[in-house]
Amino acid sequence: MQLGERKSVLSLTARPRRLRSSPSMRDLVRETHVNLGGLVQPLFIVPGERVRSPIASMPGVARLSVDVAVEETKALADIGIRAVLLFGIPDFKDAHASSNYDPHGVVQQAARAIKAALPQMLVIADLCNCEYTDHGHCGILDGSGDVENDATVELLVRTAMTYANAGVDVIAPSDMMDGRVGAIRRSLDDDGHTRVAIMAYSAKYASAFYGPFREAADSTPSFGDRRSYQMDPANAREALREVLLDIDEGADVVMVKPAMAYLDVVRSVRERVELPLAVYNVSGEYAMVKAAAQNGWIDEERIVDELMLAFARAGADIIISYFAKDYLRRHG
Ligand SMILES: [Zn+2]
Repeated sequence: MQLGERKSVLSLTARPRRLRSSPSMRDLVRETHVNLGGLVQPLFIVPGERVRSPIASMPGVARLSVDVAVEETKALADIGIRAVLLFGIPDFKDAHASSNYDPHGVVQQAARAIKAALPQMLVIADLCNCEYTDHGHCGILDGSGDVENDATVELLVRTAMTYANAGVDVIAPSDMMDGRVGAIRRSLDDDGHTRVAIMAYSAKYASAFYGPFREAADSTPSFGDRRSYQMDPANAREALREVLLDIDEGADVVMVKPAMAYLDVVRSVRERVELPLAVYNVSGEYAMVKAAAQNGWIDEERIVDELMLAFARAGADIIISYFAKDYLRRHG
């Protein structure tokens, strides 16, 4: 018997490989696409002029003064980025984060300058105190050194109003205090800022993946850690509770942070809520990919493409990533 005449020992009717047989066939049946309009590039804003100060543990990312941030945002707009997320790194820190609610603070200045130069660019402002406190915690400390919830919420509301007045489109509280979304929403509405949206860092875990960010923002707590307010990495059901509370309080978008090690949480939130869902592909995740790529151990572009797809496949509509610019440059 000739080889070609031989009957298969298999009697298969299902052959899934048919749908992988060519690039066109694979394009035809692809299930997941990354929402390019939902890619958000974080920017670190510092005082001064003409400042572009590289962050050693985040190759390709730098702290920018307001003028340079405007130039950078123009370059981002040219490749199709529609939204930036601002973090302020002030030169003055105190126990009450007073440089955070300064109407002329770095984030407020950057928001005004970016909206003036590029009105169509969405400006999202991270809202927390840890970059602004001398102790590096996310709020006001009580006598025992723990973060005092309600006083911290008052501080956040005060800062949020200055962000809204500076033209910020979306306020993104990342502090994990209880009740802050509702308090911010009420104050925004009372002040006529009904169009300012809230993207809540709803399930933000106490994670070692934030390490490089803390170098970038000089915000490592001077004592203790953030486990009394950020979530325990062991808990997934609690993430749903946090998300549902934030939605009840008026959040427009909810978020899970970090991304890579928490995609089960992203999926479970996706299955439970209709609101847009964001993931934050954080600094440590970025640093690991960059470091391995620089050593020639992985193919950075293929890894980034795979990660972005994984975030979308898990259910994220919005992906905040230091890779956003690079990804859109290659795929936009
Ligand atoms: Zn914080």
